[in-house]
Amino acid sequence: MTIGILGGGVSGLSLAYFLDHEHGIKQYEILEKHNEAGGLCTTFDKNGFKYDLGGHIMFSSHKEILDFEVNLMGENLHKKRRSNKIWFKKRFVKYPFENGLHALDKEDIFECLRDYVVNSHPKPTNVKEWFYYTFGTSISEKYMLPYNEKIWKIKPEEMGMGWVERIPKPPMEDVIKSAVGIETEGYTHQLYFYYPIHGGFQSVTRTFESKLKPGAVLTSKDVQAVYKENNKWVIETKDSKHTYETLVSTLSIFKLIKVLKENIPNEVIEAVNNLRYNSLAVVLVGLNKVKHSDLTAVYVPEKESLAHRYCFSAGFSDNLSPPGCSSIFAEITANGKKGFEGKSDQEIIDNTTGWLIKEGFIEKNDICETDIKHIKYAYPVYDSGYNENTKIIYDYFDKIGICLLGRFAQFIYMNSDVCILHAKKLATSIQSKVNA
Ligand SMILES: Cc1cc2nc3c(=O)[nH]c(=O)nc-3n(C[C@H](O)[C@H](O)[C@H](O)COP(=O)(O)OP(=O)(O)OC[C@H]3O[C@@H](n4cnc5c(N)ncnc54)[C@H](O)[C@@H]3O)c2cc1C
Repeated sequence: MTIGILGGGVSGLSLAYFLDHEHGIKQYEILEKHNEAGGLCTTFDKNGFKYDLGGHIMFSSHKEILDFEVNLMGENLHKKRRSNKIWFKKRFVKYPFENGLHALDKEDIFECLRDYVVNSHPKPTNVKEWFYYTFGTSISEKYMLPYNEKIWKIKPEEMGMGWVERIPKPPMEDVIKSAVGIETEGYTHQLYFYYPIHGGFQSVTRTFESKLKPGAVLTSKDVQAVYKENNKWVIETKDSKHTYETLVSTLSIFKLIKVLKENIPNEVIEAVNNLRYNSLAVVLVGLNKVKHSDLTAVYVPEKESLAHRYCFSAGFSDNLSPPGCSSIFAEITANGKKGFEGKSDQEIIDNTTGWLIKEGFIEKNDICETDIKHIKYAYPVYDSGYNENTKIIYDYFDKIGICLLGRFAQFIYMNSDVCILHAKKLATSIQSKVNA
């Protein structure tokens, strides 16, 4: 039994780990296009300033997966308490917004509370309606809609209800308490989180890799063709050819459809082309002093800042920056098909640093380093065609026998914990096929 795993992100690595350590299957191999594994969990280093591809923290509502990850990481992990804020009308509001209402000015508190309590919005059929239905007019219009339009680059009325299942709904009591100034916490599944002490978030994938058999990950293997021959899957890269009995792809579905040299029905190609996704630019701002160690992330609904979220390295680990320094990394999304509307990297960096200076987070003289990275496939977008398109895709790959695993292969907005959960389940299902 040979198993080929395309892509060495957390999905591919954790699948190999479970095959090997939980099922004793050793006949696997991972093909990774870059010169190291990591995928979206990669941590970059610019002159000693380490930064993840956007704020990455370890948390999970799946206790068994979180326990597993904590155990896997051993000593190289510490537990932190979230200190996220929203920057609203030049002041901090505790995150999530509905748990921080007391920080607003009195008129805003009154409007938010009134519209939350007296809310006759009808049952929702899309995300915009869901905000109105769940939070009332004022919370929706002051924060939820502007912030979500900014990150998703799509009108909330064009987003389907599949996405809102991810958003925890606050108990009514908590919203009222927050308005009158009694402390409450929302999104409690990530109030406390873990983060590697050393090496940034990529330590998670490095740890998985370190537990695999030597040579399990073949790097600089950019998959260029996938086809079936004599009932086996053949994979071609620029300089090699591999044959597997079982194939798992963690590549983005967009890439897989391009390299798959089979007779793919038009309906499937169309379904893939119809999927909507967002790209991401991550800007590093290295500072020559330690700043904002009391913050983890700041969410910004206003349009003047291109970034919707700023993460503060000192809130995650002291070891992400050279001694005496710290950094901020900003996340800026773009519609995947339109890109950054002609904005150059320098313009994006200038907007980030300019906004941070203007709003008083840093001074110009604090900045000693900047950098930018682009991620083409960052966020699957749950538009109204999402369920129909993904069903067509899943059915087809199920039929031809390629297992899809991971964020952009399955096209599910999932964090690394759920990637690991899916990998664990897939390893069990592969094992049962071996036994059959
Ligand atoms: C901004 C942002 C913030 C996030 N925050 C968190 C967080 O706080 N906590 C959390 O747990 N998760 C977070 N996530 C999600 C997490 O990063 C992903 O769920 C996870 O990394 C996806 O792993 P994957 O292996 O499925 O995909 P990927 O990491 O995308 O792996 C796919 C791999 O395939 C390789 N590949 C692509 N094309 C080819 C080819 N042709 N040939 C060979 N290899 C190829 C890629 O190089 C890559 O290594 C965040 C994601 C983003 C974008």
